Amino acid sequence: MTSVSTSPSQAAPVDVPEPAEIRRWATEQGILILAHSYQDGFIQECAHFVGDSLELARYAAEEDAEAICFAGVHFMAETAKLLNPSARVFVPDMEAGCSLASSCKGADLATYQQHLEQKLGKRPVTVAYINCTAEVKALCDIICTSGNAREVVDSIPQDQPILFVPDMHLGGWLNEVTGREMILWNGACQVHELFSVDTLRALQAEHPGCITISHPECPKAVRDASDHVLGTAGMLRMVKQQEGQTFLVGTEGNMIYRLEREAPQNTYIPAPGASCACNLCPFMALNTPEKLWACLQERGPEVTVPAELFEPARASLQRMLAL
Ligand code: SF4
Repeated sequence: MTSVSTSPSQAAPVDVPEPAEIRRWATEQGILILAHSYQDGFIQECAHFVGDSLELARYAAEEDAEAICFAGVHFMAETAKLLNPSARVFVPDMEAGCSLASSCKGADLATYQQHLEQKLGKRPVTVAYINCTAEVKALCDIICTSGNAREVVDSIPQDQPILFVPDMHLGGWLNEVTGREMILWNGACQVHELFSVDTLRALQAEHPGCITISHPECPKAVRDASDHVLGTAGMLRMVKQQEGQTFLVGTEGNMIYRLEREAPQNTYIPAPGASCACNLCPFMALNTPEKLWACLQERGPEVTVPAELFEPARASLQRMLAL
């Protein structure tokens, strides 16, 4: 056991083994540790693989893992379970939810789908951003991620009405880039919604020549003030192609750790929120190094998906993967 000294994007020192030791121990136990890019640096260092929710679920499926410790929020662990039915999936904290996923309840969505069917005379295709519960995935026709959302929407015939859930900002951006008029659910990520365009513009003035990259979950004003609107995987691809560049980054603050680690040749400045410099996800922050270590040792808490939701939710994910 040791105290681990951490960078600003990492958790405070904790009385748990070093990240490499945690990873080695988990490997011996046959547990795959997956961490989302929005987890703090310590947890990213513990992981066998770091990525966005879809990359992580795909990686787990390819690895044919028997046990997965998923350091992310609940809907991501559910997605990993849906794509890896035989694996046991553990999470460090069962309470790690998501404001975006919580904004769209299955019962409310089912009622709205019925209402739209009556109003439009035909049932709209429901496209769900992957940041939603298994209950919502089971009710929709196809899933998308921020990286493939445009392709998914473009695959739907032009004369077919679309309901897009749950993120109104990602949906609004998709309407802009595809020319569609999708009906948007009124949900938002509480982290991305709070980025301030005024502070962003002030930072841009301070750093002439910088490149601003923002996530499509950001509000329109922030997207419009950005040079590129990209999901986290797209951000990573872009910065790896640059040398000596300064990037203003409009997404959850821990992403900076991953960018600095994988493309250290550039400088990264986090875009601040409206009321403070905090742009960290409080749900992701529930997963601490101590809880991760306890989760590995106890093999729990375990995430399950109710049997009646499993196949329809998995089918929606597989329609996306088939594209
Ligand atoms: S950053 Fe936003 S979308 Fe991601 S888990 Fe946190 S609240 Fe949900």
